[in-house]
Order: sequence, then structure tokens, then C-alpha cells
Amino acid sequence: MRYGALEAGGTKMVMAVMNESGDTLQRETIPTLTPADTMPRMIGFFRDNKADVLGVGSFGPLDLNPASPAFGSVTITPKLAWCNYPMLKVFRDELKIPVAIDTDVNAAALAEFMLGAAKGKSSCMYVTVGTGVGGGLIVNGKPVHGFMHPEIGHIPLIPDPEDPTPDGFCPYHKHCMEGLAAGPAIEKRWGISAKELPQDHPAWKLEIYYMSQLCANAMFSFSPEIIILGGGVMQQKFMIPAIRKKTVELLGGYFPEPLIADGLSSYIVEPGLGTASGITGAWLLAKQLTETDN
Ligand code: ADP
Ligand code: ZN
Repeated sequence: MRYGALEAGGTKMVMAVMNESGDTLQRETIPTLTPADTMPRMIGFFRDNKADVLGVGSFGPLDLNPASPAFGSVTITPKLAWCNYPMLKVFRDELKIPVAIDTDVNAAALAEFMLGAAKGKSSCMYVTVGTGVGGGLIVNGKPVHGFMHPEIGHIPLIPDPEDPTPDGFCPYHKHCMEGLAAGPAIEKRWGISAKELPQDHPAWKLEIYYMSQLCANAMFSFSPEIIILGGGVMQQKFMIPAIRKKTVELLGGYFPEPLIADGLSSYIVEPGLGTASGITGAWLLAKQLTETDN
């Protein structure tokens, strides 16, 4: 069995064909352009490399209601060419193989849950802070969809009084997490890419505050057993200890002492699978499909 895996991101599409054990047999990355340009290249890759099934972890929002006629479509997105694009249907129609789809962050959360930092837990939250902010949630071993699917990147936060752009940059909301703290927001606020900012730049104090609000909100809302922070901006490794410290402060002593006694050092963590969580999650979605089909 050859498992197709697609990590469909807003800037790039990572495609792989993997074997039963998760070894990569073929892999290719292409930029995310319009569906007319990008879909035929992806279909070609999975066809040429003889994928028997395909798992897709995609940017969203997605329609994940199996009863909906638009199941597996991208819904509203600032990436206008992809608005209402029926990604799942097109893959199924063209490839004529079983295809499963979930959000990119649910896929990454699933991978961390099964094989990474959350192995052995019964729930976890995976957050990516990159071009956008997204959070995937696994509860009792299953990705949470619910009403639509969690959109924790758009939770409103309290702007830092020292933030020169306290409304943030989300086209939909004022001062939501993504609008305040995604990579492009950092760049718009300070006029310099997050990658280039020195560690002592005031940008990081704001970023740590926003990340900590997100973690505290998640703990109060869903009580995941572990929070995993990934994505480009989280490559700044010095942030995680500072986020733990600030989150403890924001919790205000509300969670009992044994839980946070170690300063959340085993609670707010980096991905166990490094940058491979997304593609591994897509592979797991493909694998689960064969398990449920059989
Ligand atoms: P994507 O969201 O498209 O999957 P990334 O997770 O790499 O991609 O996110 C890209 C964003 O992360 C950009 O805004 C970039 O400035 C920021 N970023 C990427 N690498 C770093 C880094 N090492 N340090 C800080 N920010 C980074
Ligand atoms: Zn928003």
C-alpha cells in the first residue's frame, strides 16, 4: 500500500508518498498558487507516484460536515482563488482513490498525539504560529470538528498596552490572535520580518503575551492535557520558557498547584516530530482511511 500525504498550506504544498511504516518514498514541495495551477500538479504527483489512498491536512476554513454537499471544500478564506473550492471532491474525482481531509492543524495534532509529544495522553492541542495561527484539538483520540472546527487563531485577545497596532491585522476581526501575532502581523507592525528580529526586540514581549493568552484561554476552554506550539514563528526557541512563565501568571493561581508546579515545563512544549507533524498527520489520515474501509 502506498499512502499519499498532502500538507496543504497557504504558501506551499508539501506532497509525499509514504509506506506502511511512514518512510517517505517520494516527496515534492510546490508553491500554493491558484487551484487551476496547483491542483493539476498535485494530482499529477499522486497519480505518477501511484498513491493508493490520500490523506490531506489543509489550510481552511474547511467544510467538514459529512452531510454537507460542500463536504471537504475550502470555505471563506482570504486566499480568494480558493474560496469555496471543492478540494476533496476534485481529488476523489480525478484520482479515483479514497481521500480523507481534515484541517492542517488537526492533522498535525493527530500526529503529535499518536507519535509525538502527546503520545500516551487522551487529549492535546497543537497550535501553529506561522503565516496564520491555527489550533487543532484532539479529544479522546479524535480530532474535534463540532459546529465547524475550532478556529482558535481568531479568538479575541487583550491587546498589550504597549502594542503600537493594538487592533491587529485580521480582515475579519479586531485584536484576534492571528491578527495580532501571526508572522505577517509581526512584520506589518515592526516593518521587519519575524525571522530578522533580534531576541531583545520589544516584538517578542508582545508575542509572548499573546501566545500566553492563547494558552490560558485554551486551558480554561478545553483543558487539553498538553499544548504543543509549532510553526515558523515558534522556531524562536527562547519563547517557550517565557510563554510558560507568562501563562502561569495569567492563570492567576486558578489551576491546582501540582499541575503547574513545574512551571508548565511538560505542559507547553515544542512538537515532538519537529516540522514533520503536518505531513505525518496527513499520512495518518490516509492510514486511518484504509483501516476504516477494511
Ligand atoms: P506556513 O504558515 O506557510 O506553513 P511557516 O510556519 O514557516 O509557514 O510560517 C511563516 C511565517 O513564520 C512567516 O511570517 C515568517 O516570518 C515566520 N517565520 C518563519 N521562520 C521563522 C523564524 N525562524 N523565526 C521567526 N519567524 C519565522
Ligand atoms: Zn481574526
